[in-house]
Amino acid sequence: MQKVKYARANSVDEAIALLEKGGATARPLAGGTDLIVQARERRRQVELFVDIKPIPETQDLKYDARDGLTIGASLPAYKIYGNENVRRLYPALVDATSVIGGTAIQGRASLGGNLCNSSPAADSVTAMIALEAVANIAGPKGRRSVPVETFATGPGRNVLEQGEFVVSIHFPAPAPNSGTAWDRFIPRNEMDIAVVNAGVQLHFDGGRVSWAKVAIGAVAPTALVVPAAAEALVGRPLSDATIKAAAEAAMAAARPIDDMRGSIRQRKHLVGVYVERMIRKAAERARGG
Ligand SMILES: Cc1cc2nc3c(=O)[nH]c(=O)nc-3n(C[C@H](O)[C@H](O)[C@H](O)COP(=O)(O)OP(=O)(O)OC[C@H]3O[C@@H](n4cnc5c(N)ncnc54)[C@H](O)[C@@H]3O)c2cc1C
Repeated sequence: MQKVKYARANSVDEAIALLEKGGATARPLAGGTDLIVQARERRRQVELFVDIKPIPETQDLKYDARDGLTIGASLPAYKIYGNENVRRLYPALVDATSVIGGTAIQGRASLGGNLCNSSPAADSVTAMIALEAVANIAGPKGRRSVPVETFATGPGRNVLEQGEFVVSIHFPAPAPNSGTAWDRFIPRNEMDIAVVNAGVQLHFDGGRVSWAKVAIGAVAPTALVVPAAAEALVGRPLSDATIKAAAEAAMAAARPIDDMRGSIRQRKHLVGVYVERMIRKAAERARGG
């Protein structure tokens, strides 16, 4: 392990000041399930951990029927999937947060850490994209909000500038007659990262799909939104044919690599399988299933 100093930030302003002063080798510390491993293995040069967990805003979970859901960036996964409003209204978020690592990891791992680590395979990210989540960022120049779908700019890279960190993540209130679903393909639970993951949100109006979002992960340098998959669904009643067209659009959009976890062919095939499954599951949930 490299030598790392630790500083506790008790407020947003304190965290910004510590991060600014610390420069490029100061990192926000949430659960540490990525950061501490990276520092120990010297995959990332870190001289200062700025612990953001003591900041009340990063540990909050608030739901309002009009404004939606706001989750503090450092709140651990188990408090997210254990929340009654999240379970009732944001099932895709439960699908994703309840499979990150195992129970011990879920006691620490946060949405902010999953997002800011910016792995192309990060599990909660495709769920957050399907749910139209927005990251609330604070920094030396003030506050700004960035949609999760444009947050990552490449593997391990994102839009955050020096001194900035994510304070919370906001999710709009669910639309009437809507459903969400998320799942991943992984060879060994709790032991590995996803070969493919997919998140879907569908809105229905009078039997037709009126709006859709399809996001896929681990098949490109960042998670991908697939507008062509949504277009294959919107304006029509959901049918085997429209679902197949959406799955094929997602397969065409995927740009996976060959590696020890899977080949390009297998990953493209899995994208089709998982997008189809998530569309069916989101539709079932929209019908109250
Ligand atoms: C055994 C094991 C199993 C795992 N399984 C999975 C899995 O199944 N799926 C999956 O997606 N991931 C998995 N991970 C990776 C990790 O647990 C997740 O990415 C987790 O969500 C990271 O959250 P954290 O709070 O621990 O982040 P940290 O490790 O604290 O931080 C991660 C990175 O984000 C930065 N950061 C953290 N919070 C903020 C913030 N609010 N603003 C700005 N920057 C921030 C840190 O500086 C660091 O660079 C696993 C890790 C381990 C060790």
